[in-house]
Amino acid sequence: MKSDTQYDAIVIGGGHNGLINAAYLAKAGLKTIVLEQRPLVGGAAITEELIPGYKFTTFSYALSLLRPDIVQDLDLAAHGLMVLPMTNTFQPGFNGEYMLLGPNKDANFHEISRFSTEDAESYRDLSHLINRVCHALMPLVDSIPPNSISQDPADLAEMVQLNEYIDGLPSDIREMIQKFINCSAAEILDEYLESDLLKAQIASSGIIGTKAGPRSKESGLIWLFHKLGEYDGEQGEWGFHKNGNGGFTQVLARAVESFGGTIRTDCGAEHVIYANGKSSGVLLKDGTELNAPVVVSALDPRRTFMELVNPNDLPDDLVKHIRDFKFQGSASKVNFALSALPNFPGLDGRTDIFTGFTNVGPSIDFLEEAFADCQAGKFSRKPFIDCCIQSTVDPDMAPPGKHVMSCFVMYTPYHLADSDWDSERENLGDAVQACLEEFFPGFNKLVEHREIVTPLDIERVVGLSEGNIFAGEMFTPQMFLNRPAPGWNQYRTPINGYYQCGSGTHPGGGVMGGPGKLAARKILNDLERITSL
Ligand SMILES: Cc1cc2nc3c(=O)[nH]c(=O)nc-3n(C[C@H](O)[C@H](O)[C@H](O)COP(=O)(O)OP(=O)(O)OC[C@H]3O[C@@H](n4cnc5c(N)ncnc54)[C@H](O)[C@@H]3O)c2cc1C
Repeated sequence: MKSDTQYDAIVIGGGHNGLINAAYLAKAGLKTIVLEQRPLVGGAAITEELIPGYKFTTFSYALSLLRPDIVQDLDLAAHGLMVLPMTNTFQPGFNGEYMLLGPNKDANFHEISRFSTEDAESYRDLSHLINRVCHALMPLVDSIPPNSISQDPADLAEMVQLNEYIDGLPSDIREMIQKFINCSAAEILDEYLESDLLKAQIASSGIIGTKAGPRSKESGLIWLFHKLGEYDGEQGEWGFHKNGNGGFTQVLARAVESFGGTIRTDCGAEHVIYANGKSSGVLLKDGTELNAPVVVSALDPRRTFMELVNPNDLPDDLVKHIRDFKFQGSASKVNFALSALPNFPGLDGRTDIFTGFTNVGPSIDFLEEAFADCQAGKFSRKPFIDCCIQSTVDPDMAPPGKHVMSCFVMYTPYHLADSDWDSERENLGDAVQACLEEFFPGFNKLVEHREIVTPLDIERVVGLSEGNIFAGEMFTPQMFLNRPAPGWNQYRTPINGYYQCGSGTHPGGGVMGGPGKLAARKILNDLERITSL
């Protein structure tokens, strides 16, 4: 019997990746503990009842990217997994124009035809091509990427296999992957579509949570990334977990405990304990020491390498990569409690338009102008807003007849040129409200309460450096073979027994769980190595 300070594995950080990692380790029979600094687990995936009856998804708000095998492996349905469909995407335009897309492909064809019959055809073809690209990439998303700098024959063989796999893909898929890597979302869309409203709606997936405009090269890959998920087998679709993403992370917490894992909240880790290149435990902020041969950081790369251990003990090239790793958070949240649903002129009283996403960003130029503010170190006064009125999908989120509305707001740079976020918080809330009032006249009168979450708040509360929602930008030089650094993309660190499993590792951020799952796979494969050294 091990004492309550002796474990097989200690996971630092109870975000969804830490919980998933711990669940796999506990399921494999390791005595595992999760340490979470906050009073609740979930990290950036939590739900909070800030005023009685109104539940806010403080940070993340929709689910799609979660790797489906995790649901099976961890038996999440038995622990309460319940993802509800977010059926429609409503895109208000200028001068009362709008586009409403939903799950019915024929209806979408007709809706897009109102703007352009060519677009209706091209949208169908493009969607099909993107689905094929996603299926082609799935084996790479779901496996530990090769080490691109190692000269070890086994690693070299994995690199050869990777190249062979890519070379073996159909040529149109390879070309499309190249486009996503090398072109902006706007460039790709210009090739296929003419309706600006439709282009803006699609391009929004390329700028979410990222310091990139629709005409920035980086937006191609971000768009593709957001298509990798699914809802109910439908590629690229999104859902809403019952009780929000906090409902989802409570499911994960139950899974951890069902496999015998322990979760300790209000329990911050000060640093990893290690000597002679080998980890042996964690020192807690209260001074207690917990011991384990395996220590896993579910925090972002900056905290994993620069705070939980002494960077002087790490190789210089790794430290340089982590210092250069771009965070530069640029997204905020404004969550509203509303007395009733907003109204869109011309569609008065239609509630179905709000049963999914409402994209406030009517043209590529509009999005690009919002981005220009961000580049100048200002938050955008006419921001792109991705809204969800979640109480239309899950009525338990708000009192009867009332609503909660989650607004994800781009662009709000972490570093403000002439001010600071503590001074600008309410101004941001006002700008978001003014923008919504423009598209949904009367909106201001519906607001009973609002919660404003700036990039600084994201950093302060969750610990995501510079408030980057993905634990580091998902730009090509920071992905796959390089996430978070070349040679250190396989969840190990230079300290034997110390691993990383946060969103700053492959396959990346979002409520995806891939990093937690793949890191557990690596650790379980390495167990003999860890204990023998
Ligand atoms: C505003 C916002 C909106 C988003 N919207 C979506 C969305 O709708 N859909 C989607 O898929 N993704 C979304 N994302 C991205 C997604 O939520 C994150 O990428 C993901 O949740 C990160 O998960 P993680 O487990 O890797 O890390 P985190 O969630 O950051 O978890 C890390 C945990 O570690 C804890 N911690 C930190 N330091 C310590 C310490 N020293 N000791 C102990 N514990 C510590 C933190 O409190 C936290 O709980 C959003 C993110 C944000 C911020």
